[in-house]
Amino acid sequence: MKKLRRLSVIMLLVCSVFMTGCDASQIVEVIGKIAQGVQQAMPAIKNVVDTFSNIFGNDNNNNNNNAAVNNANNNNQQNTEANNNSQANVVTVDPNAEDVTGNTGNNANKSTESVEEIIRGAQIAVPYGQVGTENTTAAAAQIKAKYGITMLDGKSWKDEWNSATADKWTQQQLAQFAAIMEKLPAGFRGCTKGFAMQKDLRDNDGNEAGGLGGDPIMISSKAVVEEGWTSMASLVVHEMTHQVQAKQPDVLRQWAAKFWPNGKLAKSSITDYGNTDAGEDMAECVAEYFTNPEKMRQHDPERYDFIKNNIWK
Ligand SMILES: [Zn+2]
Repeated sequence: MKKLRRLSVIMLLVCSVFMTGCDASQIVEVIGKIAQGVQQAMPAIKNVVDTFSNIFGNDNNNNNNNAAVNNANNNNQQNTEANNNSQANVVTVDPNAEDVTGNTGNNANKSTESVEEIIRGAQIAVPYGQVGTENTTAAAAQIKAKYGITMLDGKSWKDEWNSATADKWTQQQLAQFAAIMEKLPAGFRGCTKGFAMQKDLRDNDGNEAGGLGGDPIMISSKAVVEEGWTSMASLVVHEMTHQVQAKQPDVLRQWAAKFWPNGKLAKSSITDYGNTDAGEDMAECVAEYFTNPEKMRQHDPERYDFIKNNIWK
């Protein structure tokens, strides 16, 4: 659902460029007129003017600006979201990367996404400086040197879809993280380049999220420490699987063709959340493969073999 909004806004931008001959100020003016026209139906669209100004004034944040702009052209968006959006001109993380691992909240509004949309969502990246500060302790430096993964202490941020407050890696968490990395196959591990530690990760409906996919991956310290929600291992491997989807999209395409023929789930995933779409299905199953391989094998030998042969290497 969210990715469709992006496309429509990109089309709006393209149309504007044709109409104005690529003059940035004119584009903004045209967008402003468009915004006025639909303002009654969508109050938040006012922000599109500011957002386009930001785009042309700062080309460093294309992902983020796209995310912000998406908002303004979304007719399906709920009123609560639109209201929140009116205060969100600064966007730090693309909502398409949203992930609610282990979230028991309401997913009813999430429509099934196409495989290509899932891939594009997984490929979202933001400048690390926007969402965190590199952790330079010896443990983090060792993780970076050994596995090529930058460890970030998170910054507080909010966009129109998600928010988080800052948190820092503890030495215990870094040690636990390093132990997990050591057990992962190099190809799988190599798809991930950054991790940021946050807390109170929330989606726009106020639901807590265990992690947000994309680069860098963001994980919630609350999810890591709270028993009964999810372990660091399953959370980390789940999110890293989304980076596999970003870097090796054919693997997800094959997974979807096999287990989601015609976009329909053929056999239940290992968790309810895995039934959301092919991307979450794969992420949940790979996490289970890592933390409880025998349970995964018994649940579905086909998925187990697929992971073993195509992902876990
Ligand atoms: Zn996920």
